Amino acid sequence: MANPEAERLGREVIARLRAAGHEAMFVGGWVRDRLLGREQDTTGDIATSARPEDVRALFPRTVAVGEQFGVVIVIEGGLPFEVATFRADDAYVDGRRPTSVRFTGAREDAQRRDFTINGMFLDPESGEVLDWVGGREDLERRVVRAIGDPRTRFTEDKLRMIRAVRFAATLGFTIEPETAAAMGAMASEIGVVSRERIGDEIVRILLGGGARRGIELLSATGLLLEVLPEIEAMKGVEQGREHHPEGDVWMHTRLALAGVDRSPLRTEPLALGALLHDVAKPVCAERREGKITFYGHCERGAEIAAEICRRLRRSNAVADRVAWLVENHLRHVNAPNMRVATLKRFLRQEGIEELLELCRIDAEAANGDLTWFEFCRAKLGEFGREEMKPARLVSGGDLIALGYRPGPRFKQILGAVEEAQLEGTIASRDEALALLRDRFPRVD
Ligand code: ATP
Ligand code: MG
Repeated sequence: MANPEAERLGREVIARLRAAGHEAMFVGGWVRDRLLGREQDTTGDIATSARPEDVRALFPRTVAVGEQFGVVIVIEGGLPFEVATFRADDAYVDGRRPTSVRFTGAREDAQRRDFTINGMFLDPESGEVLDWVGGREDLERRVVRAIGDPRTRFTEDKLRMIRAVRFAATLGFTIEPETAAAMGAMASEIGVVSRERIGDEIVRILLGGGARRGIELLSATGLLLEVLPEIEAMKGVEQGREHHPEGDVWMHTRLALAGVDRSPLRTEPLALGALLHDVAKPVCAERREGKITFYGHCERGAEIAAEICRRLRRSNAVADRVAWLVENHLRHVNAPNMRVATLKRFLRQEGIEELLELCRIDAEAANGDLTWFEFCRAKLGEFGREEMKPARLVSGGDLIALGYRPGPRFKQILGAVEEAQLEGTIASRDEALALLRDRFPRVD
């Protein structure tokens, strides 16, 4: 359902533009989602005949984001509304962006938009939908169709190929055959688009609820080979049937993505972690004594995952978390054999919720054995925060006051005190001091 407050504010923006004598309507993805009765996570895009300078003059709070393209962000009630002047995009020369734009009317503005389902306008006063591109029919048929000739449109802006996948995947639509054929023919040209734009679209595919389908469509159109060849390489990489009755690494990864689609914890690191957790299996696969093995795939996978995150221009925080998830995705299997202190240190790590969710998704995409996941979940509940990260009993300052000479040994001493706390062998300051006397005699 629509967000009523955002819609009311959007209507106000439109009303003010109209009162000043301009045409103004809702447009694009917002209209599409509204007609589908879908949750709208963004505020409405607005299209208008007003020029950017008129828009800025009418509203006290605006941000100029792409004024040469006729786009101004209007801030109303704390929410951002993208107000775009009706325009036609003139010559595209580099497959990424138009060299110039021309301000026009609504009808021509519809023609420069990417897909028919994204090319409709909604007049909020009359409730009328203005559809010059056949968007309504395509919404009913649930198809993503380029406006105009698909080859021409993808030649103008090659990112539209990945956007087509995103809309098909998140909306559960098919890609109209001619549009899909053009994608298949032009996939190898996606490289002219900036990695950041590609990365953003891929992440939106992974987080949009249709990650499995999205990756399958990228593969079917040949785009996956261009943007994530490491995933395409998973095809046909066989694994042991006992752990992986589902099939090869490609099948397993697709099932893991379906797990992300169902997960209540759909974060960017979790989604990328699920996509990449076995990314090194193709390069680590080895037959030893008749068995298929993947020694070192967690460590090597962490390196490859970090590289991929950097390539897709993800933040350092995301890249670090994803690499950590990949590196640790099998560690929980050892949890029952860990000493209590080690287990607590494992479970208190910052990304543990994402890691355990990845472990669950990984198991459910394989033989379904949740033993270790459940063990960790139970221990996490049993310990609680305080017990896993107890207040310090002694500090570095205490050690100095006790006459220890500062140095690298301090870390070892304080670690041993914490270890004893986590093991439950000491709980008070006096016990900690006794441990120091016993195990760490001062060297004067
Ligand atoms: P979302 O729901 O993900 O925001 P959206 O359709 O609103 O999807 P946006 O990227 O927000 O997508 O763009 C808003 C509108 O601008 C689109 O609906 C489409 O009409 C147009 N548009 C965006 N990107 C392009 C593009 N690369 N080529 C042509 N038209 C585009
Ligand atoms: Mg949008």
